[in-house]
Amino acid sequence: MKIAKDSVVRFHYTVSEVGQESLESSKDREPLAILYGHGNIIPGLETAMLDREAGASFGVDVAAADAYGEKRDGLSQRVPKKHFGAQKLEPGMQVVLQTNFGPRAVTVQKVGMSVVDVDLNHPMAGKDLHFDVEIVEVREATAEELEHGHVHGDGGHHH
Ligand code: ZN
Repeated sequence: MKIAKDSVVRFHYTVSEVGQESLESSKDREPLAILYGHGNIIPGLETAMLDREAGASFGVDVAAADAYGEKRDGLSQRVPKKHFGAQKLEPGMQVVLQTNFGPRAVTVQKVGMSVVDVDLNHPMAGKDLHFDVEIVEVREATAEELEHGHVHGDGGHHH
């Protein structure tokens, strides 16, 4: 079947900044599973997947605006150091911070005695990205998955 709204899609991906080495890949772990058409992945990638079938491989360039958005100013925040646990912090480092909205990747800007300034922009914000994608499986979502808005089982949520 072809990928359409409410499909469950399992896929491998490799992402890089256009013209550069890969930043991240799913190849060394399980494929990612998403509920298609529900904004579970960046818009540019979702658009490029439409109508593809299992076994398809393709590459696509996604402009920053259709990926993680443009980098925004004024997204710095001062956070008590204790929120980072025992890890050693250095400017430029990317760490995952537990926020009220769930875990969030942030970039350390400045490390003080008791507080840390972080940039809340997504680490890939402002970057034009290239994705290489391999569609592993396409199936219809179950009623329960549609109700929850995410995939259950392999590569998805377990609860
Ligand atoms: Zn669920």
